[in-house]
Amino acid sequence: MGRIHLLPPHEALKIAAGEVIDRPAHVLKELIENSIDAGATTITVFIEDVGKQLIRVVDNGCGMSEDDAELCFASHATSKLHCVDDLEQVASFGFRGEALASVAAISKVKLITKQHTADESVPGIAIDYSGVTLQQRGVIACGVGTDIQIRDLFFNMPVRKKFLKRDETEWNALQSVFTAFCLSHSRIHFKLYRDGACVINAPGVIHERERALQLWETDIAHGLLPLQNDQTVHEDVISITGSLSHQHVWRYGRQHIYFFVNGRWVKNNELAKALMKGYSGVLPEACFPAAVIFITMDRKFVDVNIHPKKEEVRFAHPGRLQTMLTTAVKRTLEQHVTRTLSPVSAPLSQPQISIPPQSSIAPMPTIFPPQFFTSMPPVVSSVSYNVVPPVVHVQTQPEVLQPTFTIVGQLFATYLIIEKEDAIIFIDQHAAHERIVYEKMKQNYTVQHGVTLLFPEIVALAPEQINGLLEHKDFLIQQGVEFDILSDEKVVVRSAPPQLKNVAIAEFMRDVATFIHEHATLDTNLLGTTLHERIHAQLACKTAIKAGDVLSHEQMKKLIEDLELVDNRFICVHGRPTMWRIEKSEFEKKFRRT
Ligand code: ADP
Ligand code: MG
Repeated sequence: MGRIHLLPPHEALKIAAGEVIDRPAHVLKELIENSIDAGATTITVFIEDVGKQLIRVVDNGCGMSEDDAELCFASHATSKLHCVDDLEQVASFGFRGEALASVAAISKVKLITKQHTADESVPGIAIDYSGVTLQQRGVIACGVGTDIQIRDLFFNMPVRKKFLKRDETEWNALQSVFTAFCLSHSRIHFKLYRDGACVINAPGVIHERERALQLWETDIAHGLLPLQNDQTVHEDVISITGSLSHQHVWRYGRQHIYFFVNGRWVKNNELAKALMKGYSGVLPEACFPAAVIFITMDRKFVDVNIHPKKEEVRFAHPGRLQTMLTTAVKRTLEQHVTRTLSPVSAPLSQPQISIPPQSSIAPMPTIFPPQFFTSMPPVVSSVSYNVVPPVVHVQTQPEVLQPTFTIVGQLFATYLIIEKEDAIIFIDQHAAHERIVYEKMKQNYTVQHGVTLLFPEIVALAPEQINGLLEHKDFLIQQGVEFDILSDEKVVVRSAPPQLKNVAIAEFMRDVATFIHEHATLDTNLLGTTLHERIHAQLACKTAIKAGDVLSHEQMKKLIEDLELVDNRFICVHGRPTMWRIEKSEFEKKFRRT
């Protein structure tokens, strides 16, 4: 007798369903999508035991007729297309008519529905399924819309059930799906209940930002900036809109990053990298922004069928899209900082400074004794004493229309003070110089052979960090970093990139190891970029002038001039501001001159 036999149809369906539906979050996604397609304006979700016990979605959409209520669980049952040609039309939503059939094959389903055309007195329909088998059908008093309850997910597929992740991981996945729909459909009223408690209640709003306020912590939601993008129209009509958090708020995970392509939530590594590239040098290491990005483009340039759950997409021109995104992010952040620093006038740009001959140096102003100001509010007291000499006034050439500014001096041997137009600008000399060095290094960095360390350095690391380093050993050698394992908790570094030779190598190795460890799947491009950024940041920090260094007038002038010319000049490598300003009007208010 042959060994091959055909699986019974219900077993085949179950296996196929298990392939498509792999976790509670995916069921939730299919159900909410159906509610949205049904035109619902209110969607309420109840989750029990992170979806293993119950996933219930109640909507006020169009509901189903008696026949449809039963038919919707059949394979290839859909009201959304009639033939393969229609598929093109709804391509962005992937293959049609499989979701409910799959869900019903691997759970116990209750469906209660009533069509909006039915007159008030007509009852709704209630249907129970268990693993594809119709258990019961009857009538029930209910409102218009659909209430679908999925219980005991994977009850007949213990293997699948075993592969579910930790409860919090499954819950996070459910919450991400829910949040994504909230963000992309801000006019719908969404509610989410977890084990009986309401965790999100988001009535419909018009503006995305209000939606973010309903969903996220206020620092994130208030910190959102509209994406500045003047390249919205391309030959292929790609548009990118949305909002981003500014450089002073971040999280240690990616849970606030959402991309939507033609209205549909997608995951795409390349887009995520392009976003982070826009933030490079602005956020601290291993920190992530909040971003809600909507990309709209002709459907023929997007392939959604590379992933069974349609969560991933492939673009016809990925490079162009990524560059657009990075540029838009950079522009948004730049403009934001410029705006906050220069509420009235343009940012410091192309100043024309000239140094006066020594003789024209202004005499030192009278410096008030510190206690004179100690009771004043901080804004004033911070500029009022300990002005370190020499206080040099440098006037720009008195040409008409030329912007002018004056170097007032150095404060606490740490901050430079400039008078410009109707404001006073404070510059943190270390932060500013660090940014300058970093940007220059970024431009000029070339990978070089490592130099052998005279005294090889022993670095203590966790075993898993050492494993991470080992995985990338060849790559690290190419970058000039050579090391050997001493024990399962120690490595010895034998060579380092020449640029790093005077810098704490242990710190550098720990940084790299931590980074590798935190990014379970890491491509060498990203590692390379990060490694270089670490090298630049380390060097910039070590070589930049320090707080406490007294600067000559020449040095101050050079610093300000250099700062003018670098990218990201408003923020230091660690995300702190390099400068801030106080308007003259502020002073006038304090002294009651207005
Ligand atoms: P698809 O959504 O791809 O058509 P599904 O299996 O998800 O396939 O749903 C099958 C059909 O059931 C839908 O086409 C729709 O007609 C009906 N349906 C499912 N959910 C709802 C709902 N919440 N409200 C109204 N009709 C629904
Ligand atoms: Mg569907």
